[in-house]
Amino acid sequence: MLALQGGFREHEEALVECGAATLRVREATDLDGLDGLLIPGGESTTISLLASRSSMIEPVRELIAAGVAVYGSCAGMIMLADEVLDGRPDRPSFGGIDMAVRRNAFGRQVDSFEADLEFEDSAVPNTVAEPFPAVFIRAPWVERTGPSVAVVARLPEAENGGEAGEPGKIVAVRQGRLLATSFHPELTHDRRVHQYFLEIVKGDA
Ligand code: GLN
Repeated sequence: MLALQGGFREHEEALVECGAATLRVREATDLDGLDGLLIPGGESTTISLLASRSSMIEPVRELIAAGVAVYGSCAGMIMLADEVLDGRPDRPSFGGIDMAVRRNAFGRQVDSFEADLEFEDSAVPNTVAEPFPAVFIRAPWVERTGPSVAVVARLPEAENGGEAGEPGKIVAVRQGRLLATSFHPELTHDRRVHQYFLEIVKGDA
């Protein structure tokens, strides 16, 4: 668990409930020997600043390049994006996923909202019958994905912010062993996204 800033405690509880052992990563040496890394929500500019100060940008990039499973939620999604729209150029992301994300994409009027999501069955099965309750807080959305990125969930069209006729905004993606969601699955009791990440960690998904 990257524990520099943000909502890491709730993610830890979720992972422990799913049977995982967690430890807090606060400096580069904490990255040694990890099976997976979770980057929580919070403020991506702050996470970037603290990661730079503790000389962790390059080590996390190396971990990603080495194929360790990484999941970024909300600000964590921004940190995994190769391109950040509306970001600060002096606050680099780790990158890794070939996508462009827009920070605070839903605008100031819509600070936070909840939506029922359908996932691709290969990621979180059965969400047509049992939608995933997703909490969005000053969330990013994904504006562009490269050819190696799988879109695993979109917002229902009706929640799109008024762009009728367009497909729902992309809010969950996977590229290889990297997973990112715009929303906060740790804030509800539904553990299916954390379980999916642990399957990626174990090499079962
Ligand atoms: N708006 C925040 C950012 O840009 C993300 C918000 C969140 O993680 N809930 O980093």
